[in-house]
Amino acid sequence: MKENMSDTQTPVIEVRDLHKSYGQLEVLKGVDLVAHKGDVVSLIGSSGSGKSTLLRCVNLLEDSQQGDIIFDGEPVHWKGEGLNRHPADKAQVIRIRTNLTMVFQQFNLWAHMSILQNVMEAPVTVLGEDLAVVEERARKLLDKVGIGDKCDNYPAQLSGGQQQRAAIARALAMEPQALLFDEPTSALDPELEQEVVKVIKDLAKEGRTMILVTHDMRLAADVSDHVIFLHQGRIEEQGTPDEVFKNTKTERLQQFLSATV
Ligand code: ADP
Ligand code: MG
Repeated sequence: MKENMSDTQTPVIEVRDLHKSYGQLEVLKGVDLVAHKGDVVSLIGSSGSGKSTLLRCVNLLEDSQQGDIIFDGEPVHWKGEGLNRHPADKAQVIRIRTNLTMVFQQFNLWAHMSILQNVMEAPVTVLGEDLAVVEERARKLLDKVGIGDKCDNYPAQLSGGQQQRAAIARALAMEPQALLFDEPTSALDPELEQEVVKVIKDLAKEGRTMILVTHDMRLAADVSDHVIFLHQGRIEEQGTPDEVFKNTKTERLQQFLSATV
């Protein structure tokens, strides 16, 4: 959760006036976002409003055409303009991606690897960390998310909720500065959803920095320091959970909330 000093600290993630188009289709039309250390920022909004695109741009999985992305005080260096704009510095891209790990709706575990291997893979191959050190960390993380007994199983042998918890352990194994969640519970049955919600709540309590795209308004209200409502690629309304959920200002957000609850 937010620390008192946070306003004077360098944000972990800062996005300024971000614009993103897919060809002719402008999907992000000038979006700003700030996450200080320990903040949970939730993104809510209708399907197609640009939430996933924003996360993918922050993580540099997608290029953007205008605006700044600043990671821990370090602005992304770009080359080219408009639709030709790309990150200029490969080492910086890797640094940012390994520090902002992403958890996807569809888990995206590697089917041919055991759960333990899934969690160990990136720290060993991308960061070049020592195998024994990584294995110990991976086992602890799998214990932490409640599936320590599934180390030797393959993804297909786990329930959706267990697979998603493995994916969270995998993201944590990189020891990132922030976690990016893209609708981590929306592919799950309601009873399995709660297992994953609990893990996300625990991470929030630990003071992890997170950007969370979610359709679960109760989760957003419970864990967020700041909630952003995206509508057609723009921030239509934002604020604390109380401001956004209890003192809703715009009609668009009112409509969205009454349709979701
Ligand atoms: P959300 O996550 O809020 O549902 P998205 O960020 O996935 O929204 O999508 C925002 C808009 O961008 C939608 O109109 C979607 O169709 C479009 N879009 C997303 N990904 C692509 C892509 N790879 N190519 C073209 N259009 C895309
Ligand atoms: Mg999405």
